[in-house]
Amino acid sequence: MIALSLAEIAAVVGGQTHDIPDPSVQVTGPVVRDSREVVPGSLFAAFVGERVDGHDFAARVVEAGAVAVLASRPVGVPAIVVEDVQTALGALARHVVRRLGATLVALTGSAGKTSTKDLIAQVLRRKAPTVFTPQSLNNEIGLPLTALTATEETQFLVLEMGARGIGHIRYLTELTPPRIGLVLNVGTAHIGEFGGREQIAQAKGELVEALPEDGAAILNADDPLVRAMASRTKAKVVLFGESAEADVRAENVRLTDSGQPSFRLLTPSGASDVTMRLYGEHHVSNALAAAAVAHELGMSAEEIATALSEAGSLSRWRMEVTERPDGVTIVNDAYNANPESMRAALRALAAMGKGRRTWAVLGKMAELGDEALAEHDAVGRLAVRLNVSKLVAVGGIEASWLQLGAYNEGSWGEESVHVSDAQAAIDLLRSELRPGDVVLVKASRSVGLESVAQALVETG
Ligand code: ATP
Ligand code: MG
Repeated sequence: MIALSLAEIAAVVGGQTHDIPDPSVQVTGPVVRDSREVVPGSLFAAFVGERVDGHDFAARVVEAGAVAVLASRPVGVPAIVVEDVQTALGALARHVVRRLGATLVALTGSAGKTSTKDLIAQVLRRKAPTVFTPQSLNNEIGLPLTALTATEETQFLVLEMGARGIGHIRYLTELTPPRIGLVLNVGTAHIGEFGGREQIAQAKGELVEALPEDGAAILNADDPLVRAMASRTKAKVVLFGESAEADVRAENVRLTDSGQPSFRLLTPSGASDVTMRLYGEHHVSNALAAAAVAHELGMSAEEIATALSEAGSLSRWRMEVTERPDGVTIVNDAYNANPESMRAALRALAAMGKGRRTWAVLGKMAELGDEALAEHDAVGRLAVRLNVSKLVAVGGIEASWLQLGAYNEGSWGEESVHVSDAQAAIDLLRSELRPGDVVLVKASRSVGLESVAQALVETG
């Protein structure tokens, strides 16, 4: 982060300094909330969590080199005491990004935020120093912490923004006002909490409402609810997608035999061929989104295409492909699941598994509200239509809905198995897998199916 004195930080966040002998001492960063991440020069933000109270670590973090603690009460060591630590952190982030010359790029959507954020970062950093959200730290705490890692050299700051309700994105855009705002898609993720797709669109669209006139709203032309957000922004609108009206498009889209998307990238200023290292056709949309951002920031089609072709996954458990020595391929997509990403992953499995035996090891998709039964049923049916060889449904009632879908679509009996938990899935697969098989492992985060993928990778 940029160096700031404790006096300046206290002024910015409206806090009182306590036990600080010399307020001109500088925080050189980073700002952290996890005591284990403290290094000399850090500012430690003390949050009161459900199980732990950051204030209890005050003495320890100062010993480890923290310059001070951002706290909601005096802690006996150097501290800036504020009413609310989260609000203070936000104010500090806003202050810092205003002082930086960096261009802020923010993105949101129901599925693919992290994948796309990682792609954008890998493209933009070829042009200039880029800071981006690590993993999925996309909420009111992770976002300011990320923004605070930017330095004077940073040219591009790429921020993932997550929403669990109306007003969330607006709040995030007030902390770190973006010039470029990208909306990927409006799906059914968190639909239970939101109430419906229109509400989700309402919430995600807050991103483009926050853009300035000289900014750019990058919108998915293939998603009607996203496309419609064009009317909610003062900024220039740039469309990406496969539809003909998109400014940044893909032509000749296909999956290679290994399941990697290949296409011709068309931008307003030129075209170039892309073959991705990432798996699954859903990455075409993510790549076009990243290309639209990069094009807007002055990169050529060739530069963008090269970067997209070389980009890898920066975040684990997302279509992570491991080839076992015995010829079994494990696709670990256990990070999360919703109906859109389930469909995309199943299609990737089908492409990768041409001429091979394919296994879909699937668990529940959480937070679907009233649509849960229908959505699980539809995934089970899709597995049949894509000629997946075996469905292993893991877990409780949702797993039986997956199995029911497969039964209804293709009268699947032996082809689908319902097991109660991850261990049972591991036991089954260990005895059944044969050289050449391809296994997809995917469910919502709470199911924790990565343990299945990891066990299978280690078995080989
Ligand atoms: P989160 O809300 O958990 O942060 P996210 O929006 O960041 O999720 P990713 O982590 O990139 O999304 O991907 C989540 C899942 O969605 C993965 O299983 C991935 O394969 C799939 N996915 C990625 N991009 C898309 C897309 N454009 N459409 C549908 N599914 C996608
Ligand atoms: Mg994410």
